[in-house]
This record gives sequence, C-alpha cells and structure tokens, in this order.
Amino acid sequence: MALESTFDFIVVGAGTAGCVIASRLAKTSSTPRVLLLEAGEGNNGLSHMVPGQRGTFWCSDAADMLNYRYKSVPEVELGGREIQIDRGRGLGGSTAINILGWDYSSREEMDEWARQVGDETWSWAETREVFKQVETLHDDTPAEFHKYIYSKPGSRGTGGPVHVSLPSTWAPGLELLLSAAKEYGIPMLRDVSSGDLGLGVLSMTSYNGLRVTADSSYLSDIPPNLIIKTESPVARILFDGKKAIGVELTSGTQYFATRETIISAGAIDSPKILLLSGIGPQDELASHSIPVTSVLPGVGNNFKDKCMVYLKAHLQPGTVPSISMSDVARWQQQWEEDRTGPMGVEPCRIATGYFKLDNLETFTEFQQLDEQAKQLLMRPRTPAYEIAPGIFADPTTGGSFFGTPVILMHPQSTGKISLRSSNPAAAPVIQLNYLQNPYDRRVLVESTKKVVDFIYNSKIPAVEPIVGLTGKTDEDILVQQSPKMNFDHPPYLQVY
Ligand SMILES: Cc1cc2nc3c(=O)[nH]c(=O)nc-3n(C[C@H](O)[C@H](O)[C@H](O)COP(=O)(O)OP(=O)(O)OC[C@H]3O[C@@H](n4cnc5c(N)ncnc54)[C@H](O)[C@@H]3O)c2cc1C
Repeated sequence: MALESTFDFIVVGAGTAGCVIASRLAKTSSTPRVLLLEAGEGNNGLSHMVPGQRGTFWCSDAADMLNYRYKSVPEVELGGREIQIDRGRGLGGSTAINILGWDYSSREEMDEWARQVGDETWSWAETREVFKQVETLHDDTPAEFHKYIYSKPGSRGTGGPVHVSLPSTWAPGLELLLSAAKEYGIPMLRDVSSGDLGLGVLSMTSYNGLRVTADSSYLSDIPPNLIIKTESPVARILFDGKKAIGVELTSGTQYFATRETIISAGAIDSPKILLLSGIGPQDELASHSIPVTSVLPGVGNNFKDKCMVYLKAHLQPGTVPSISMSDVARWQQQWEEDRTGPMGVEPCRIATGYFKLDNLETFTEFQQLDEQAKQLLMRPRTPAYEIAPGIFADPTTGGSFFGTPVILMHPQSTGKISLRSSNPAAAPVIQLNYLQNPYDRRVLVESTKKVVDFIYNSKIPAVEPIVGLTGKTDEDILVQQSPKMNFDHPPYLQVY
C-alpha cells in the first residue's frame, strides 16, 4: 500500500456528520492522518450562502449541482405520486441547501433514544450540554420582544463552532402571529430549545451575512493531518475478511485505513454504500449478484421519515407592507456588494413548535399500536406533530400569506432503501411508505384540522379557503393536502 493512499481513518461523506467526525478526529492529541472523501464539489461559490434565500435556494435551478433531488417510488397512499427527496451534495452536504432552522430536540425524544440504544450519553440531560458546546448563540433580540424570546442565562452556548442567530430585526407579521397564537390558547415558549412543548421563535444558522454550514463550522481551520478530497464518490468498502480496510471510488482509485473506515454519507447513501459492499439482506445482495460480506437484514430497512403537509392561506390586503420584485433585486445587489440588507440578515420570521394531540389515546388507530410505541407516544412531552408558521410578503403578487408545514412526528410507517442496480452511479430505490400505517393518517389529519382551525378562528386575517383545500372533511384533508416534500406551491419561492 502506497503511503499517500494509506490513512489512519477514512470518513466518507462531508455533510453534517462527516465534517464533525473528520475534524474532531484530526484534532485529537495523537494527530491521526484522516481522509475525508466527498462525492460532490467543494461548494466554493456563494450562490448557496445567501441567508435571505434560505427558503428558496434548495428548489432553485442554482441548486442543481448541490441537490441530489432523489425521487421516491410511486407512493400507494398518495395516489401514485412520487415525492422528491432533497439531499445536499458537496462540502457541507445538506447544510448547503437546508432552511437554516436551529433548535434543540424535545426532551422525551432524546430520553427515548438513550433508552433504545442503552446509553445515557444520549439522554436529554447529557445531549443538552453537547448542543450548548456546539453552538454560539448571537441573541440580538430587542428588549421589547423579550416577552416572546428569552433564554435563561447559561442555558445556551457561547463558544461553539456553529454560529446561530436571533437577529434584532423582526419581519412584519411575526408579532401578529405570536400574539394571535397566544390569544387563541396555544402554549407559548420563550426558548424553543428548552426541551418543552409549545410555540416560540426559531433561531437560524446564519451569521455575518452568510449561511452557516457544516464545513464553514468545522472545516475552516483544518490541520495538515486532515486531507479532504472532493469529487470522490465512494463505490464500496474494501475488506480483509470481515474487517473494513478502506474504500474504492467509482473511478477505481483505492484508499486504505489502518484504524477505521467511517460511513457518514447520509440516511439514504450510507445504506446504499453498505449494500454495494455486500452488507445487507441476503436476497437483495443475491438479486444484484453482489458477493456477500456479511448478512445484515436490517440494512436499508426500517427507514423512517417525517412527512408533512403545507398549509397556505392568503391574508387580507395591508396585513403586512407589500414588497415588489425590484425590492428583492435591490436587496440581492446590496448583499452582493457588502453582505448586508435583508438578504444578509434574514429577520426573525418563523415560529416553531412541537405539540401533542389531547385525545390521541382515544383513537382506535392508536390503540392498535404495540405497547412500546404507545408508551412513548403517551409520555407528557412526546409530540404528535410539529409546525413552523410564518407570515410572508409575496413580491410576485404584492400580497401576503400565512404558511406552515404540519409535520407528523413519530411516524409508525416504515420505508426501505434498496439498490436499483449494482452500478454505484445509479440512484437508490427509495420506498417511503408515507401514511401506510392508519395511525399516521389519523394523526396527520387531526393535526392538520387543529392548524386549519387556528388559521380560520384566530385573529390571523386569513382569506378562506386555504390554498388547495376546498373542503374540511378528513377525506378532503387526506386527498387535497397529502404530503408534499416537493411543494406544489413552493412555500417560500421568491418570498421574503
Ligand atoms: C431542503 C432541506 C431543508 C432542511 N432544513 C433543515 C433545517 O431547517 N434545520 C435542520 O436542522 N435540518 C434541516 N435539514 C436536514 C439537515 O440538513 C440534515 O439532517 C443533515 O444535514 C444530515 O446530515 P448527514 O451528515 O446525515 O447527511 P448530509 O448532510 O446529507 O451529508 C451526506 C454527504 O455524503 C455525501 N455522499 C453521499 N454519497 C457519497 C458517496 N458515495 N461517496 C462520498 N460521499 C457521498 C453527500 O454528497 C453529502 O455531502 C434540511 C434538509 C434539506 C434537504
């Protein structure tokens, strides 16, 4: 093995997980030689770095090279529709295209995770401290808004590599949204990272006029013992018997690891690499004539994804000041000149929150679940659904609208990632099975009804009907609002 192709550790995929692991390993006191391999490019351009385009970039043409844009197989419960699965490509992975929302998870989620893996390190008490070490929160909230946002001194991070902002500017409409929610009776949180359930203001991973990505946070000061190779898609893991000893790229180039080979290529590509390496269900490996390294039936199975619907309602004229496309062009120009203006400092605009459904335990669909699932869902802080509402001025129409995703938490349906062929260049087969379990259908419909009621019966000046929802029955909601990962009405398209 040539020295230049041999490392202590090889890390595959430079997304969130890969950037953190490679950088932390390389900075340990023994200074191991670490190779980080990324399929995509270096993402050195700036088109993805504009904070004000956080909600538009991933679905724009400019993101073509940074987004795999996978498609699911036609979904039975969604009338045969295919769903677009967005995944980031290049340094930073999905953080190069994501929507910049940042909050800690809910208390109960982490405690359940710790229980499932039998390791207290994953409990809320311990992970909360890690979240704090990871972030530097820049909270510039003016005193007049402290009634809506306030984190207890010492409860958030001040020295971590991930810069998170709560800017001093608030989008027109945010205060209306929060006061409407409070008056309607929605439980409110002044710190959405407290681990509790309720609605509060969402912070963003943007700072100094730029998007914050996994590579800007973890690869900005790389030591010489960390080598990064982009445009290096890994085809398979190399083995000596059952011991992983390195990887082979699609080009045929091989790299070797004397210590460990770490696969961190994301929830879809990691199982694909394992399957191509002969690790997975025997019948699937056989069907593609892939020699078996190790039979592991779970690889690619039990894929869980939180599906969502998007509710959008136009608002009465004058709810927020109107903006035009020429305003947007001017702001973009300003950002290009000096990274300032509304494109550089995206104002606080979106609220976020996790909620329970009061009557969950009375649903037949809940009662039919197994005991373990029921125990988790009944815990006081296990959410049934999540929302992220905002009020947006739309420069394409001069009007404004209220919009929110309604996201199903703890889906009981499970999907599957499998191989299309033994060719590493082929996209994997993604079977989501959204809403296959009756519990998921019931909870998504009931949660959507709750949000529909808020839209029509709070002081939000919404114009009926909600876009695309002409009826209010369960069937109307299921058929007309069925999950949209590839939004039919891109929610933030050119909207600020
Ligand atoms: C449109 C969108 C919006 C989102 N919004 C938010 C948000 O607001 N807040 C939030 O917290 N999360 C959000 N997320 C999710 C979040 O970004 C991801 O959960 C997170 O980045 C996943 O990290 P990862 O390391 O598992 O995978 P990724 O970040 O996806 O990284 C995987 C990397 O592996 C590389 N790779 C794949 N195959 C190979 C191969 N064969 N060889 C070498 N490299 C390979 C990929 O190119 C990629 O760079 C969003 C995601 C998307 C797509």
